[in-house]
Amino acid sequence: MTKRSYVIDQMISAKSIAARVEDLATEITTHYSGTDKLVVVGLLRGSFIFIADLVREIGLPVEVDFLEASSYGNAMRSSREVRILKDLRGEIAGRDVLVVEDIVDTGFTLSHVTRLLRSREPRRLEVCALLDKPSRREVEVQATWTGFTIPDEFVVGYGIDYAQSNRNLPYIGKVRFTEDT
Ligand code: 5GP
Ligand code: MG
Ligand code: MG
Repeated sequence: MTKRSYVIDQMISAKSIAARVEDLATEITTHYSGTDKLVVVGLLRGSFIFIADLVREIGLPVEVDFLEASSYGNAMRSSREVRILKDLRGEIAGRDVLVVEDIVDTGFTLSHVTRLLRSREPRRLEVCALLDKPSRREVEVQATWTGFTIPDEFVVGYGIDYAQSNRNLPYIGKVRFTEDT
């Protein structure tokens, strides 16, 4: 299988992301004020840079945990089947939980993950998603906090990959495929 040639056009600059992350963290800090320890759950792998930046701006004690779900593989379309590849290490019953996701697309992943985590009876469970593509939604699901609402484009960077590359770009870019000669 060959990978098509592509270029990446910047969509959201590193500076805009940093400013938005700061605002989100301020809202989250206010929302959870008084919580003794917030459990911040990053959905691997796409959220790893976002969660790292976000927790450093949250002015509350936090515990960081990770969960890996898969609905994508290496293909560019979502399947409806969501598998848990790596579960949380910690208990969340009775705790305040914030799920951190890179992109809400069809909504299948988030709806599956939040249903699973709610079954463990956290005190409160909210979601912070960096990106939202509402035009692609197939399951009704909404993050409590969203960084940016974007059109239906395939994006990479700031933790988000294309075939396991480009996660280390400091900005969010859209993938534009070019003609192979
Ligand atoms: P959903 O289950 O909402 O359709 O898919 C969510 C997951 O699909 C995201 O967490 C992300 O991993 C992947 N995804 C959705 N849109 C994009 C995109 O534009 N680029 C990349 N690299 N992954 C995406
Ligand atoms: Mg994801
Ligand atoms: Mg991926």
